[in-house]
Amino acid sequence: MEYNPFLNFCKVLDEAAATAKIAPEDYEVLKHPERELKVALPIIRDNGKLEVFEGYRVQHSSLRGPCKGGIRFHQDVNVDEVKALAAWMTFKCAIVNIPYGGGKGGVKVDPHTLSESELEKLTRRYTAAILPLIGPQQDIPAPDVGTNAQSMDWLMDTYSMMRGYAVPGVATGKDIEVGGSLGRTEATGRGIMTVTRLVAEKHGIKKARVAVQGAGNVGSISAKLIAKNLGFDIVAISDVSGGIYNADGLDMNSVGAFLAKKGLLKDYSAQGVKHITNEELLMCECDILIPAALENQITAGIAEKLKASIIIEAANGPTSVEADAVLASRNIDVYPDILSNAGGVVVSYFEWAQNLQSLYWEEADVNRMLDKVMVRAFGDVEKTAEEYGVTLRLAAYITALKRLTRAAKLRGIFPR
Ligand code: NAD
Repeated sequence: MEYNPFLNFCKVLDEAAATAKIAPEDYEVLKHPERELKVALPIIRDNGKLEVFEGYRVQHSSLRGPCKGGIRFHQDVNVDEVKALAAWMTFKCAIVNIPYGGGKGGVKVDPHTLSESELEKLTRRYTAAILPLIGPQQDIPAPDVGTNAQSMDWLMDTYSMMRGYAVPGVATGKDIEVGGSLGRTEATGRGIMTVTRLVAEKHGIKKARVAVQGAGNVGSISAKLIAKNLGFDIVAISDVSGGIYNADGLDMNSVGAFLAKKGLLKDYSAQGVKHITNEELLMCECDILIPAALENQITAGIAEKLKASIIIEAANGPTSVEADAVLASRNIDVYPDILSNAGGVVVSYFEWAQNLQSLYWEEADVNRMLDKVMVRAFGDVEKTAEEYGVTLRLAAYITALKRLTRAAKLRGIFPR
């Protein structure tokens, strides 16, 4: 059967609701995104030819506040993926208890095939096309795979031009000079580092071998901060071109400098380093595995063979439902995406709050508050796992579901 992440989301949701004895009518609404917009995006390429791209914005739920979620530029973007990503945002925001619902957007394009000016045109045209849905009180985009701070600067500028005044709060993950927050670029990786620290404390781990799949914003920063602040060895890291492995630990300063210069790991060389495939990375000798690339990477077959005893999900949806069952049967702890990678949206929330107040915070304050929110959410999920005797993924879903169904009850159904 074809992989459908939204149906997978619904499956886990049903299981969580059944475990927590939440009646189907109390959460049925969460199986239906509030709004789905599909847009056609014509741009004139540098060669003078017209090309039309396909894009989406999905608002999954605004039960707990304005919709919030990133924009993905990737050749495999499709509506079911965007729906799943939007739903996970709803749950993520509920777990960290910030006043947002969930949304997500995407454009079906390989951004590496566009020039800078084509990317700018596409981003601006996409912004114009989704304009009726977005706004600081409605739906607030952020970067995701294939987009970055520059993308959000263009989005914010386009929105502001259409409104006639500057609206920094329409997007987060912007550059500092146009209303970005200190600490936002590193926030998801910093949150992953905090979760890794809490997991290590819980298991009494003093030293660990860590493998990271993905070397983009999230993967590279998680790896760098875990090596620097926790002193753990990063034994493997990869990107779309493949991975590198060193049983004694990679020199992350050297890897980081190489990536900044060359963009991909494929020609990296250093003593003791061997090149491996992404699949080999997932199954390499390590204690902690951090998938930080795309969905559906840890399949049941890989779950049977992987050697890590702990998985901390930095990517969204990296583990299939079937793989989850295998991992549970092997007693491998999976710290789920909707808890572990929430650092990004937490600091996005801080950025938005700063934009609305026009009052900017010190980086140390941002990092301290992020740590506090992550520690609290981690504790909430651990407590729920103990209470129900379930996996951390189910516990995370239950934690969020209780907050969401409570909000739904308080708001009631309109019209009555
Ligand atoms: P990115 O575009 O910066 O990096 C993606 C990385 O994955 C790159 O190194 C790329 O080469 C690699 N990659 C792409 N295809 C691959 C493949 N088939 N196999 C192996 N590696 C592959 O994206 P990002 O922002 O780092 O996002 C990574 C993941 O983290 C996504 O699942 C995203 O939804 C999630 N996430 C991102 C944020 C954020 O703040 N950026 C927040 C929460 C979750």
